[in-house]
Amino acid sequence: MTKTPWPRKRTREHIDRLASDHGIAITWVRDWFDAESYPDTKIVFIPKPSCIFHYLVALHEFGHILDKDSRRLRKSSPYSMSSVLACEGHAWGWAMDHAIPEARPRASGDEKVWQGVARSFASHLIYP
Ligand SMILES: [Zn+2]
Repeated sequence: MTKTPWPRKRTREHIDRLASDHGIAITWVRDWFDAESYPDTKIVFIPKPSCIFHYLVALHEFGHILDKDSRRLRKSSPYSMSSVLACEGHAWGWAMDHAIPEARPRASGDEKVWQGVARSFASHLIYP
């Protein structure tokens, strides 16, 4: 399999467009574990899309705001572990569905993405 260069410019343009289309403010953070989102005030703290995982983490945080089910779960039962994890699942689903085609993990064959998603879920078990 030929490895194509990471589409850094296109993924950054995608993030910037999502922010402007939906009135979401971005604060850049250094790494994925500092990422978070505030649906009520439409603010995301996201890493720059320098690699596929950081790009998907950024989309995941947008998903917490733009995915109806993720938003509903966060509001309706914020202290239920199953709801927290379901909310995370919806936001990851949104990220995978909305990623530009060449930056989807199935297309890139990048298994490290799924390990990162697993670490993200695990972080909610440790710090719910
Ligand atoms: Zn999340």
